[in-house]
Amino acid sequence: MDGALETAIRMLSGKRRLLAFTGAGISTESGIPDFRGPDGVWTRIDPKEFTYRRYVTSAETRRRSWAMRKSSGLIDARPNAAHRALVDLAAAGLLAACVTQNIDGLHQAAGLSDDLVVELHGTVHRSRCLDCGDDMPTTEVLARVEAGEDDPHCADCGGILKAAVVSFGEMMPRAAMDRAFALADEADGVVAIGSTLSVYPAADVPVRAAARGVPYVIVNRGDTEQDRWADVKVEGSAGDVLPALAAALIGAT
Ligand code: NAD
Ligand code: ZN
Repeated sequence: MDGALETAIRMLSGKRRLLAFTGAGISTESGIPDFRGPDGVWTRIDPKEFTYRRYVTSAETRRRSWAMRKSSGLIDARPNAAHRALVDLAAAGLLAACVTQNIDGLHQAAGLSDDLVVELHGTVHRSRCLDCGDDMPTTEVLARVEAGEDDPHCADCGGILKAAVVSFGEMMPRAAMDRAFALADEADGVVAIGSTLSVYPAADVPVRAAARGVPYVIVNRGDTEQDRWADVKVEGSAGDVLPALAAALIGAT
């Protein structure tokens, strides 16, 4: 077994309030591209085109956003072995919560209960009217796009519809941030998975736990901005590393 993985297992053994902090990398093995990896979305698309301000002021940006959502596969993706490993940890009573930057809903699709998942950047599975706040499944909006409405508006008030995700330049959901930090204050170990740990304030969550002196493990393919703060960095694919880590920790209980 990889030496770093062995160290991670040793450091996390006996912990029962683990906090997982996940990024786009945990879902690439489900077929969803990340943003900053070698095949990331930012190698093809300029993030400046998808700010909140652009979205509310430009019908063209909204058309492109819905067209991209429809073709992205995000809505239909299925969880992978890494998502399932976190469910196993929870079932064994070792996982306090999973704070995610992802918007794909794959932690819940794998079987993690809603109350164990904190979505810092929202979810692509719901959409809402920016005027009256009416909330609906994104599949309903995409069906309208499919039927020919390229910039669908609210059926009640005519307002702009937007997927319930946090865009660039948009406020983070306050309640989710507060909850994530409270969980970081109570965790007895933290594992960051598949994130460059470069998007703040989200990336402060694992740091907050690590600053209390609890073990901090990073599982990622490639460098992250917090490698030097981690107690151990396991270089590898989430779909390989997480099942091995979870099995060893569950076996040690
Ligand atoms: P990121 O794109 O900045 O970084 C992903 C990291 O994961 C990279 O270092 C990459 O090399 C690594 N990686 C890729 N596949 C991996 C695998 N199988 N195993 C281990 N590591 C792997 O991701 P981020 O830090 O989450 O930031 C991107 C932002 O974009 C997030 O805030 C999120 O809201 C959003 N986003 C979400 C999704 C999603 O919901 N699945 C997808 C893309 C982007
Ligand atoms: Zn409305």
